[in-house]
Amino acid sequence: MPTYKAPLDDIRFLLTDVLDVGQLSALPGYEEATPDVLLAVLEEGAALCEQVLAPINAVGDAEGCRLEGGKVRTPQGFKEAYDQFVQGGWPAMTGPTEFGGQGLPHLTRFVFDEMLCSANLSFSMYPELGHGAAMALERWGDEEIKHRFLPKIVDGTWAGTMCLTEPHAGTDLGIIRTKAVPAGDGAYHVTGTKIFISAGEHDLTENIVHLVLAKLPDAPPGTKGISLLIVPKFLPTEEGGIGTPNGVSCGAIEHKMGIKGNATCVMNFDGATGWLVGEPHKGMRAMFTMMNGARLGVGMQGLGLAEVAYQNALAYTKDRVQGRALTGPKNPEGEADPIIVHPDVRRMLLTQKAYIEGERALAYWVGQLIDVEERHPDEAVKQEAADLVALMTPVIKAFLTDTGFESANLGLQCLGGHGYIREFGLEQFVRDARIAQIYEGTNGVQAMDLIGRKVPEGGGRLLRRFLAKVQETAKAARDDARLSDLAAALLDALRKLQESTMAVMNKAPQNPDEAGAAASDYLRLFGLVATGWMWLRMAQTALAKLAAGDGDPRFLDAKVKTTRFYFAKLLPQAGALAAAIASGAAPVMELEAEAF
Ligand SMILES: Cc1cc2nc3c(=O)[nH]c(=O)nc-3n(C[C@H](O)[C@H](O)[C@H](O)COP(=O)(O)OP(=O)(O)OC[C@H]3O[C@@H](n4cnc5c(N)ncnc54)[C@H](O)[C@@H]3O)c2cc1C
Repeated sequence: MPTYKAPLDDIRFLLTDVLDVGQLSALPGYEEATPDVLLAVLEEGAALCEQVLAPINAVGDAEGCRLEGGKVRTPQGFKEAYDQFVQGGWPAMTGPTEFGGQGLPHLTRFVFDEMLCSANLSFSMYPELGHGAAMALERWGDEEIKHRFLPKIVDGTWAGTMCLTEPHAGTDLGIIRTKAVPAGDGAYHVTGTKIFISAGEHDLTENIVHLVLAKLPDAPPGTKGISLLIVPKFLPTEEGGIGTPNGVSCGAIEHKMGIKGNATCVMNFDGATGWLVGEPHKGMRAMFTMMNGARLGVGMQGLGLAEVAYQNALAYTKDRVQGRALTGPKNPEGEADPIIVHPDVRRMLLTQKAYIEGERALAYWVGQLIDVEERHPDEAVKQEAADLVALMTPVIKAFLTDTGFESANLGLQCLGGHGYIREFGLEQFVRDARIAQIYEGTNGVQAMDLIGRKVPEGGGRLLRRFLAKVQETAKAARDDARLSDLAAALLDALRKLQESTMAVMNKAPQNPDEAGAAASDYLRLFGLVATGWMWLRMAQTALAKLAAGDGDPRFLDAKVKTTRFYFAKLLPQAGALAAAIASGAAPVMELEAEAF
């Protein structure tokens, strides 16, 4: 059985020392959100994840969900855990206070999300979808919708979903066929079939609120003709309770590779009553509030699974004895040495550790920026934060899930054959991690979003803000003899990113395939540089704390050594990626489709 222990030491180091989240309590409405308060909440959340959610993760995988008479039964223990989750107030953690939320900073949810995903990804998706729906409704719903639905969704009494995908329309939502016809009383009749709907039907809550993309009768073609509707499973009564069943049913659940404890449903809407959220035909804009939040959330799924796989792999490599260290026995009393002595095993462990801890810092930084974007009184600071969040969203989604899958897979490899069999749980983490690269817009689509939309936006304004931040850190570190080589390496990788950007931007106007062909390599290069930046910041902090005799020297020394590993063994990928980008679109495009 795998185990999970929330990485609270690392979380504490990041929040209090590296990211200085004390600044958050200076923002209006967050006066009480001091680091101590946030950490106390997170410690409680960690206990829930470790003691309640992690123990039912393997059960969820083995049992899966069942469709019985149109109703989905979640695996054993999920309902009880969900009730405990709601009673503890966890769904409401960052929800708006006027609708019953606790109004804690969004950063808190980022950290909690990581722990939830480590403990039980399938479970985490039930409350997370409700949270995403609440964010979209708060931003785009009219007052009646907000008052009718938000209090129940915010406190977790009702769950939510996002219904975009149709059998013929996945990435290309412009061709959806679900229709919404005015009912004459301000409501709409929604008809169509949505597939792959996570948590589309389940037994955890008394009601499920679907956010559905559909086309109105006068819709223009393509994505400019999509509207967003709220369609509950049961129509709410005037008093806020649940009334008659709506025309929504689950036709089937998918049998799939991973996240088996989360029901992936075919949802049929048969003239179901729904209400418009936001303006007609502007549904994509409204849905993007939920999708952007979900993209960042999916990034945390990659990170969470990488962390739990790493923890279990690490424990195994200290315990399992095979062979002798190349430099002579390290465990002479035993019949062999623990496998952590072998350089190749250490390579696997350190690759996981370096991605995980660097990306954790990166993700939490973005979480903090969301709070600044929402609450800072200075418009210029707000705009800078908004720019950086927009730029980083595809990077967090795709880089953390690509490397998350790689890390989970390395974790499995550390166990050899024991990783491949079910008993140790590693194979579940690998299977669960795979979906995060696909849903919420595939990672290929994220890469196109980065290079095709976010980088050129505002004449490169978003990118310049990011480059300036990395340069500032690297230039400061150049003067520190202990870090000057790392600062130079980061500046070199940054220059490769800038040159790659220019190369693509110069060629793409003549040939748009240039952007498409470079996109995935470019996103990876971007992620590597951004994570390198975070490692340099962590090394600076760790060295300063070591010098001041403040903190656990072993923990801080590990930070410095892992920084060195990252710069020596992982950041050099930047050179290969830059070369691949520079080679342009021709090698990808010149082979005719018929000749494959
Ligand atoms: C377990 C699971 C849960 C899901 N949950 C939900 C949910 O809750 N709600 C929901 O609405 N959907 C959900 N989905 C659907 C998911 O978001 C889609 O599967 C995903 O967006 C990709 O769409 P597709 O499967 O139709 O693939 P396609 O769009 O057919 O893409 C196939 C391949 O082609 C590539 N591709 C397609 N178009 C382009 C392009 N223009 N440029 C470059 N490459 C391209 C893609 O990157 C991909 O590699 C879920 C899917 C799964 C498997």
